[in-house]
Amino acid sequence: MKCQLAPVNRMYGRCTVCCRLARYASGDDDRECGGQPMPPGLGDAIKGGLDAVGLTQERVAAVTGDCDCPARQEWFNAAGRAIGIGVPPSSPEPPPV
Ligand SMILES: [Zn+2]
Repeated sequence: MKCQLAPVNRMYGRCTVCCRLARYASGDDDRECGGQPMPPGLGDAIKGGLDAVGLTQERVAAVTGDCDCPARQEWFNAAGRAIGIGVPPSSPEPPPV
């Protein structure tokens, strides 16, 4: 299976499966995917902490009607990956373009 790239900027993409960075010009976008699972992200860590103190998505939804928690969790996961949280150590951030 080839890496499934989501664009990071116009020169780099990141695989949604293995989370490795790929530079389009170097042909990285045609590589075989390692397929290793993505490490837990910032949103996953926040959810784990809130769950640990009993503030679960179900309880928030019971009070507010609709918590929108999964979308917020994914937003924090993406924000964390932008600063290196939740990405494999062998996958450095791209240089600014
Ligand atoms: Zn991949």
